[in-house]
Amino acid sequence: MKKLGFGLMRLPYTEDKTWGNIDLEKTREMIDAYMEQGFSYFDTAWVYHGGFSERVFGELVAKRYPREKFQVTTKMPLWGKTDPADLQKTFDEQLKKCGVEYFDYYFLHALNRDVFATAEKLGAFEWMQEMKKQGKILHPGFSFHDDADALEMMLSKHPEVELVQLQINYIDWESDNVQSRKCYEICKRYGIPVSIMEPIKGGSLANIMPDAKKIFTDYNPNASAASWAVRYCASMDNILVVLSGMSNMEQLQDNMSYMKDFVPLNEEEQKCVQKATDLIKSTIAIPCTACRYCVDETNGGCPMNINIPRFFEIYNESKRYGVGPYKWHYNNAVKESGDPAGCIGCGNCQGHCPQKLEIIELLKEVAKTFA
Ligand code: SF4
Ligand code: SF4
Repeated sequence: MKKLGFGLMRLPYTEDKTWGNIDLEKTREMIDAYMEQGFSYFDTAWVYHGGFSERVFGELVAKRYPREKFQVTTKMPLWGKTDPADLQKTFDEQLKKCGVEYFDYYFLHALNRDVFATAEKLGAFEWMQEMKKQGKILHPGFSFHDDADALEMMLSKHPEVELVQLQINYIDWESDNVQSRKCYEICKRYGIPVSIMEPIKGGSLANIMPDAKKIFTDYNPNASAASWAVRYCASMDNILVVLSGMSNMEQLQDNMSYMKDFVPLNEEEQKCVQKATDLIKSTIAIPCTACRYCVDETNGGCPMNINIPRFFEIYNESKRYGVGPYKWHYNNAVKESGDPAGCIGCGNCQGHCPQKLEIIELLKEVAKTFA
């Protein structure tokens, strides 16, 4: 299996709501191009695109390609579940939406200490083993958003899992918050392969500051910044797949160009990445990955309709290049969604942030900066 996985969480957007604002035609073209080049791994989830990601997968992949030509992973949302019977109900609906009879990999979604406690109460790990016995899940696992101690605790209780999805990228590798390296090493010690999410850190490593970009282009003028981020991840051992949440054909073609016949980073290239990491880390103000869990309606959303990741992105850019050029973007974002100054501090967003960002305080800082 080739190591580039198609993450179905940032698909092309359209105003038409028929498929939950996903542009079906553009997505079909991307999926066909991906399959034509011999790639085969798709990653979706119940919550992606407000529930439409799984449907789109079923429509564009499962309906149109023989089952043996692709692998698919989806994820069980555990938030708010109290009845163990809900696991089966959700799962059966996922099989229907995705148009398959089994999932190659299946994750308990976004485990942290709290969600893990819910999973234990519901018997979710044991339930996955039952699904495995019935041939409906080939490889059970979980996606993870907490620190290394939490991961160690989970794997010590459930070493039977067969894949763990971790957030890894060259910026978060040594991060105190995300603890990518420590988590990766724990999986390796348990002999459990890893699938990597956020290799481009929500797209931010595709568009890096000019000085960092120069480090890469001086070494290879033809390679995109994104290619360095994805190859960095794919160069690790014990990796099943690196997921990229691609939003257009250009990103897909770029990713495929270096992942089709993948060559790991050499020593010199690793040094370039380290230099760029040091430079970029010295300028990131808010380490938001734009995952949008904080504003996702299936998580309750923001009652004031504040587009949190958009404001954090604007703020980060303003820290790098000055507030002036970003006032226009800020004012536009205020018009299109809610105003950060209007945050009522309900806290619904913070509980869903995998990066554990203090969103309420950060929004105050953003609003103050642009006041
Ligand atoms: S705390 Fe503020 S930003 Fe967060 S959900 Fe509530 S109103 Fe929205
Ligand atoms: S604030 Fe947190 S939950 Fe919201 S998009 Fe950023 S990283 Fe994701």
